[in-house]
Amino acid sequence: MIRLYLSADLSAEVGLDLDEGQSRYLAAVMRQTAGDEIACFNGRDGEWLCRVEAVGKRQVRLRAVQRLREQTTGPDLDLVVALVKRARLETIVEKAAELGARRVRLLVTERTNADHARVDRLQAIAVEAAEQTGRLDAPDVVAPVKLDALIRAWPEHRRLMFCDEAGDSPPAIPVLAGASGAWSIFIGPEGGFSPTERETLRAQAFASPVSLGPRILRADTAAISAMTLWQATAGDWRAP
Ligand code: SAM
Repeated sequence: MIRLYLSADLSAEVGLDLDEGQSRYLAAVMRQTAGDEIACFNGRDGEWLCRVEAVGKRQVRLRAVQRLREQTTGPDLDLVVALVKRARLETIVEKAAELGARRVRLLVTERTNADHARVDRLQAIAVEAAEQTGRLDAPDVVAPVKLDALIRAWPEHRRLMFCDEAGDSPPAIPVLAGASGAWSIFIGPEGGFSPTERETLRAQAFASPVSLGPRILRADTAAISAMTLWQATAGDWRAP
């Protein structure tokens, strides 16, 4: 069944006017007509069965029929990734949505080649991946911030899985064993974290440096591996 992420509130019988992009997708691409049914979610009200009520030239109108699933939200996991090349960053955002990250925070470090990114495009990729993967929310893609600003504003009770490619950190699984609560995963840029950045990160009481094995991974491989390890040991891949 087609799934659409909406910003509108969802409740029985509410009418939903889709924006131009979603209208075009449903009408022209997916060839939906009046009476067809799709699933909608907004990250707050669960998943709703919605019926196509009207297919206009530039707008499709839906009507919510019944709730299919109660709202649930995955673990409080942030992926914090340095700005790497566009294609790789887009892959990382898509995989973060599939692997259940709640937010993707973009990071500017000493060795990143850019200090900005197309956050709107990355957010659209995150939404599309959330629709495909069946989750009931979509990760927020947060605009780039500098590493020291992020560390200065670090929230209490949040732990950090610092993926440190230098090779002198313990393996991830024992570090994450029994972990719970809010965590962030840090992935550096193509050039890695600088020695100063590594020192700063390792000095934080909330940080747990981990190794992702003896080989240097590309940032997308590292992000996927780290999220997999975290979900399997501390997240929602564990038996309920
Ligand atoms: N400095 C290397 C380079 O120039 O190719 C590696 C940087 S790597 C592409 C980007 C990030 O992935 C690293 O900063 C680190 O966060 C993570 N990473 C890659 N391999 C890793 C490993 N074996 N252990 C821990 N983290 C790793």
